Amino acid sequence: MESIGVLMTCEMHGELEEKLASRFKLFKLWNYPSFQAFSKTHANSIRALVVNTKLGADVNTIDSFPNLEIVSTYSVGLDHIDLKKCKEKGIRVSNTPDVLTDDVADQAIALALAVFRKIPQSDRFVKTAMWTSDYPLTTKFSGKAVGIVGLGRIGSAIAKRAAAFGCPISYHSRSEKPEAGPYKYYPNILDLAANSQVLIVACSLNEQTYHIVNRNVIDALGPEGVIVNIGRGKHIDEPELVSALVEGRLGGAGLDVFENEPNVPEELLGLENVVLTPHVGSDTVETCNDMADLVVANLEAHFLGKPLLTPVL
Ligand code: NAP
Repeated sequence: MESIGVLMTCEMHGELEEKLASRFKLFKLWNYPSFQAFSKTHANSIRALVVNTKLGADVNTIDSFPNLEIVSTYSVGLDHIDLKKCKEKGIRVSNTPDVLTDDVADQAIALALAVFRKIPQSDRFVKTAMWTSDYPLTTKFSGKAVGIVGLGRIGSAIAKRAAAFGCPISYHSRSEKPEAGPYKYYPNILDLAANSQVLIVACSLNEQTYHIVNRNVIDALGPEGVIVNIGRGKHIDEPELVSALVEGRLGGAGLDVFENEPNVPEELLGLENVVLTPHVGSDTVETCNDMADLVVANLEAHFLGKPLLTPVL
């Protein structure tokens, strides 16, 4: 295996780099002056790509490596990979589902609690010695009507957690889930938003879910409503979200993902009803180690002619 060329498109978890380097001939794209400079000399050596949400595999990348056999993404989301092109060329694709589900669901609940209970603001209040008077009252999260967009692995884990807070759960997905028991299904996201106090976005990003949260959905949620997004930034029409928050047409937002990461709209930075995290939903040591193991195990399985552990294609 040591002679098999594997290219990482950008820096990821240190342990992933170490594991890949100990098993394969690892190339790190960021050590080269440009993609063109790298592919000019090494294009024929690359049989596997390891990508993530920051730098994926578009048509140009895929076409640049004539001997490419597999793309293994250090993520569960697939929106940064041209799956159609991979399928056309018979290139395998694997991702890292399940191992990150708990962390991302935890982050969604943490964001909801942080917005309603103003955790970052009250932390600043104590640390900056402002505790000379009582802190203003905040808003209760327990019992709020929670609407989940995308009742997949992560959406279901969020539902389980929110239910433990006494929140009635509703959801919108492409199809109704018979296993979702008491959760109410809305075939239309507008109806979900109109009947929710907290809207949590947890679906995958595709052509149909691009800007699935638009002005109408935001207005249906209303001035007391809160949006939490741990899916992808492109699920929400960001300028519409910003103006709704600025104009008080939306109550608050907890956002882990943004349309043009790492750029965040300036207006969001000064808003007290908004809590922002830098796309860290799955970023715990434990989960990142598990994700790294899965990336490596998929590559090993492929090159040993065994079935992939978590195949996409
Ligand atoms: P999953 O199990 O595949 O669930 C995806 C969900 O999206 C399904 O419920 C699916 O509904 C729904 N969906 C897809 N297309 C839809 C559409 N057109 N309309 C409505 N719903 C639609 O994936 P997962 O493991 O839960 O992950 C979900 C997403 O979370 C990932 O794709 C990724 O973008 C994001 N994520 C973010 C972080 C972070 O750090 N913030 C970390 C990991 C993942 P059906 O079941 O009805 O098809």
